Amino acid sequence: MSTPLTITEIMRFSDRLYRETEIISITADEGVHRSTYGAVFKRANQVAHVLDHLGVEPGNRVATLAWNDHRHLELYYGVSCSGAVLHTINPRLFPEQLAYIMNHANDQIVFFDPMFLPLVEGLADKLSSVNSYVVLTSKGKMPESSSLTLLCYEDLIAQNTSSYPWPVLEETTASALCYTSGTTGNPKGVLFDHRSTVLHAYGCCMANVLGLSHNDVVMPVVPMFHANAWGTPYSCPVAGSKIVLPGPKMADGETLHALIENEGVTIALGVPTVWQALLAYLKETGKTIDTLNRTLVGGSACPISIMEEFEKQHGVYTYHGWGMTEMSPLGTVNRLIPGMEKLEESDRNEVRAKQGRTPFGVDMKIVDADGKDLPHDGVTFGDLKVRGWWVADSYFGEDDNRETHDEAGWFSTGDVATIDQQGFLNITDRTKDVIKSGGEWISSIELENLAVAHPHVAEAAVIGINDKKWGERPHLVVVSPEGVTPDEDSILGSFKGKVADWWIPDSMSLVDSIPHTATGKISKATLRKQFTSTFE
Ligand code: AMP
Repeated sequence: MSTPLTITEIMRFSDRLYRETEIISITADEGVHRSTYGAVFKRANQVAHVLDHLGVEPGNRVATLAWNDHRHLELYYGVSCSGAVLHTINPRLFPEQLAYIMNHANDQIVFFDPMFLPLVEGLADKLSSVNSYVVLTSKGKMPESSSLTLLCYEDLIAQNTSSYPWPVLEETTASALCYTSGTTGNPKGVLFDHRSTVLHAYGCCMANVLGLSHNDVVMPVVPMFHANAWGTPYSCPVAGSKIVLPGPKMADGETLHALIENEGVTIALGVPTVWQALLAYLKETGKTIDTLNRTLVGGSACPISIMEEFEKQHGVYTYHGWGMTEMSPLGTVNRLIPGMEKLEESDRNEVRAKQGRTPFGVDMKIVDADGKDLPHDGVTFGDLKVRGWWVADSYFGEDDNRETHDEAGWFSTGDVATIDQQGFLNITDRTKDVIKSGGEWISSIELENLAVAHPHVAEAAVIGINDKKWGERPHLVVVSPEGVTPDEDSILGSFKGKVADWWIPDSMSLVDSIPHTATGKISKATLRKQFTSTFE
């Protein structure tokens, strides 16, 4: 039968089979909140009525500025299943960028956590299309605003029935929108549709990917405003997994530990810095995480030192993954293939540090500067291109995709990588961060991963510094753990024998903190600016 692949079907399925399965949230306004799929979907019906009352038409964009919790999940379903588009916004962007994307998206309504009121008030007079401001809280906790008329989410929900006549949607109906920094210029919108979302949810659940089931308790420590919390709001109900949502407490080791222990989390997903915070907390307190059996780490390269600490100290297996907002975001996951478990530890670690292989549904290749295919030999570097069922075919509102997509539809990721004979991807750099020394590429990611294994290094970044003879040379920037005075010779010496001699950074700077972008990645552009003058 050719029935459409829609998010509404995910909701119906899970409401039928997993009504009692729990959804636990840390809310921004009232601490821990316990709910179920049944309750969340009931309220999604009420959300759809609210949207009708507020005049939302099919295809209209409805914005959220919110952390991971049950209310945000209700909006995920209430908005998309009613035929409107959920525009999840990253509150860490600069106000000018926020105004730009909200106007570009033509957002009609914004639903936001109470803590974002000052941000929203500051933006309001720059917003050209927003006509309703809804605070995600209950009446007793409503903040006051001297400049905006605020609506109360819980009040609106309570005024509507929990049965909504969901429209029959084409599977190509747009469902959600998320802006990413893209490779150049203003942020770019990535528009997901129901079909790509359902296929991505299937892909994520597969045994060789996350292997999700109804025995799992999943904790996405990646924001629902960044690449849809890696698709977990859709893959968990497909698998029937209990969900644990940490709200605004993403990088708080104590909260993450308490959630894991109290809720029996079996799999957690997040960027390396989140896990560094959790591991540091566990080390400091001697506490354990007994139920957790695996983590998916991505968003930035995961150093092998994190994988080893998880495994050796806590019995938690780490899967390294890679993806992009433009890929919904799943691109690859590193699952060792049969036989690899028997490799010597150092060889196995070499494989595990790679970003892994594509699931069925995504294809990838590397090309040279002329767009010619390069061999998958694990050595040759090239520009990484992808295509597949959940990869965007253009940016929102841009008719011409020739800058990012070639004639055969392959999307240029902006990453430089190798692919080995078995299909394992190894990301070397972002194209714009590549260091070229004497005409040859040096991988800043590989150097950073080696640097953080040194006990004097808490965080590391490697940037290219202009050099008269070589064009560029790598420079290491380091943050040391509190109370540690780093020994430069020891740190720079630790690269010896692990990479070619000419890759080893010539110099090192110690800083108090390394700048990050709104999506938590190291801002190499800021660092380059900061250090260029030092070396002129
Ligand atoms: P975003 O769309 O914000 O999620 O950013 C996507 C980009 O993050 C990718 O194109 C990569 O440059 C980077 N990225 C994601 N995962 C990894 C990883 N495991 N290792 C290295 N870089 C990664």
